[in-house]
Amino acid sequence: MKYSELYKLLKKSVHYDDDKLTPIDTLDVYNYTFHSNSYHIIPGEDEYRCSVHDFSVKAPDENSWKSDYTILDVVDSHVKENAEFRFHIFTPKDSKPARDVILLLHGFNEKNWIKYYPWAYNLMMATGKTVVLFPMTFHMNRALPEWSNPRLMTELYNARKQEFPDIIGSSFVNVAISTRINVKPQRFIWSGMLTYYDVIQFVEEVKQGKYACIASDARFDFFAYSIGGLLAQTLMLTNKNDYFHDSKMALFCSGSVFSRLTPVCKVIMDSETEQMLYRYIIGYLDTFRAKDHWLGHFLSEQHPEGYNFLSLLNYNKLMDYREQLFAKAHDRIYAIALKQDYIIPYYEVINTLQGRMRDIPVKVDVDDFPYPYKHEDPFPLKESICDAVELAFQTTFKKLSDFLK
Ligand SMILES: [Zn+2]
Repeated sequence: MKYSELYKLLKKSVHYDDDKLTPIDTLDVYNYTFHSNSYHIIPGEDEYRCSVHDFSVKAPDENSWKSDYTILDVVDSHVKENAEFRFHIFTPKDSKPARDVILLLHGFNEKNWIKYYPWAYNLMMATGKTVVLFPMTFHMNRALPEWSNPRLMTELYNARKQEFPDIIGSSFVNVAISTRINVKPQRFIWSGMLTYYDVIQFVEEVKQGKYACIASDARFDFFAYSIGGLLAQTLMLTNKNDYFHDSKMALFCSGSVFSRLTPVCKVIMDSETEQMLYRYIIGYLDTFRAKDHWLGHFLSEQHPEGYNFLSLLNYNKLMDYREQLFAKAHDRIYAIALKQDYIIPYYEVINTLQGRMRDIPVKVDVDDFPYPYKHEDPFPLKESICDAVELAFQTTFKKLSDFLK
């Protein structure tokens, strides 16, 4: 089936309502409900406790981070949609419990999976593996529906433009996430950390036999797009309990450390938020880690996952440490970067994955397509270029799935 037909068909027929769907005669989609055990680590609690280290701390004063918009000022750790949510598993039709699973991780500020359905289906068909579409904290169906409501968000967008007349890249699509991260930039880090623990919980639930369509001894690979790469890298390089010792990671428009991204655009984040995140993460994170004892505890060597995530934030910090992690896993990582991707530039993907001396032999292909495309929309659905898009989509996913086979 052609990419454009597949896109339309899956967009129309995949949903969360039933526990099992068969949208095409080659595909079963299972929907499960996930209950996060770790949601209480994120902002909103009065007191925090890490049971691993018997470490307790009172919450810092949270009053300073109100946005003035009640619709956004939710108590993060109390958001039900984030703590309990539905997610999709794509499996070849009528297959036995899967022994091989690809965890598909998405981009920043994504509200639905539609773009990824044909990607997941293609990966599944080409590799024969089962694909799990796992949503990040406060993304997809883990965000409040109001944050995607065009009317409500347009009101907020107008107010934000008045507050910051010179703002760039603001839109009703990114105003919720931009405003929330602007007032509390550590939300960016907590979103990554909580999703890390949720994925580990999912892997452990698989091992306990909780998912009938996946075998309890299944192994896991990663397909990550855009910011999802930071999460896939943290998971694979940390290799908790050896869960990912033989995992492979395919990165598409992804792979650079955070400080080398150029994320300002209408679908991702606005310029005020980018500046705040850079100030927080690149400028003064060491100071904030020392002041915020809870965050500091997780971004320390006591928690290898947090320390590895930290090493992926700022290019100029922990360079030797980060590069030895990539060197160790080099033959299990493959990236396709796009020449005209200005959000995650290809040379920054190379800078991170191959290291500053280009002495880490991670394979990175820099591809280009003969039609106008963007980071956030590499395969546009336009009638006039549909043949070129079809070829680009099939060629790209053939290379990614050959690696993941
Ligand atoms: Zn701890």
